[in-house]
Amino acid sequence: MKASGVRSPGLRKIAILGATGSIGTQALEVVARHPDRFTVVGLAAGSRVADLLQQAQRFGPRVVSCANVADAAPLRAALPAEVRVTSGATGLLAVAAESGADIVVAATDGAVAFDAVFGAVERGLRIAVANKELIVAAGELLMAAAARSGAEIVPVDSEHSALFQCLVGEPPGRVASLVLTASGGPFWEWERSAIAGAAVADALRHPTWQMGTKNTVDSASLMNKGLEVIEASRLFGVPADRIDVLVHRTSVAHGFVVFSDGNVKAQLAPPDMRLPIGYALAYPDRLPDQDRIEPLVALGARGDAAMARLDFVRPDFARFPCLGLAYAALRRGGVAPAVLSAANEIAVDAFVQGNIPFGAIADIVAAALEAVPAQPLSLASVRTADARAREAAHAAVEARLALTPNRP
Ligand code: MG
Repeated sequence: MKASGVRSPGLRKIAILGATGSIGTQALEVVARHPDRFTVVGLAAGSRVADLLQQAQRFGPRVVSCANVADAAPLRAALPAEVRVTSGATGLLAVAAESGADIVVAATDGAVAFDAVFGAVERGLRIAVANKELIVAAGELLMAAAARSGAEIVPVDSEHSALFQCLVGEPPGRVASLVLTASGGPFWEWERSAIAGAAVADALRHPTWQMGTKNTVDSASLMNKGLEVIEASRLFGVPADRIDVLVHRTSVAHGFVVFSDGNVKAQLAPPDMRLPIGYALAYPDRLPDQDRIEPLVALGARGDAAMARLDFVRPDFARFPCLGLAYAALRRGGVAPAVLSAANEIAVDAFVQGNIPFGAIADIVAAALEAVPAQPLSLASVRTADARAREAAHAAVEARLALTPNRP
């Protein structure tokens, strides 16, 4: 782990890509709680322009960006003249790399912010990364670019923050294996046939974490954990056969590192994203306090048995085939993880729209992995593979719909 990236011990300047989403708004909560440590210099959002305007008025960034050029004019009219208001891909890059930020919180979904994040990495900034697709599809490229520029990549996802925290100060090359925990999602105790026909409302009932729709469906299929296995491999340079998943229903222990001498370090905390976000912003320091987060010990002490108990079981690859698909894509390497991730997006969308049953998500992803040819890894090949995977997944969804009687 490198020492630098964030150089000034004073006020850290924060830019957020995906400011109005779940991670973005929680990052702003952390910033607002610590005005002596953090200041906001850039905010980028998609189409939630009213929320973005409120955030910009409250936090006073230098650069603000929205997805559509048409939304920029009203923002410009409402904000002080010295605020640079921009849009689209240029806007994301401006917020990430031209706002004067020390730390860029990469919290957009999908591939929209790849160029902006690489721009920030080339400038040697710290990336607090919550953008799963970025690490899954282009993680090797990102880590290589960061090694060249001295940029720090600090994960925000709770499991990867756990592993990162366990690895601080440890000698490189002494990691025997990594363990990611999974809540198991709402279908953990369901029969395979029931899972296959599960309704959208069932998939959205996550036991422990509050997240967006896509992530919640991914948690139900365990694809989320599969993507996280790929992320862990990229972030920490550990191959697939040395990364394990354990189902831990209460989401209190987030990750373990097993060392070569048999010692194991784990990180435990309540399931609250402000903890890993705060860590990624404050690292290598820790924040003096986090508002309204009940300490784990207090939860145990007031008799919350679920919180006080640590149970772990192996995941069931037969009932959750998406997990196996993710391992297969990681072993295949190259653009296969990008194909997995893009095809899954299409499949999840089709499920949420009511076009395919839950059990077909894995079939659609498997079809795309079959259809898209292997290519050596580059940002260009990742983009091509992403587009082809979406086409292949759409085609697989259409083929299923054509077979379905009483198509709506
Ligand atoms: Mg996670």
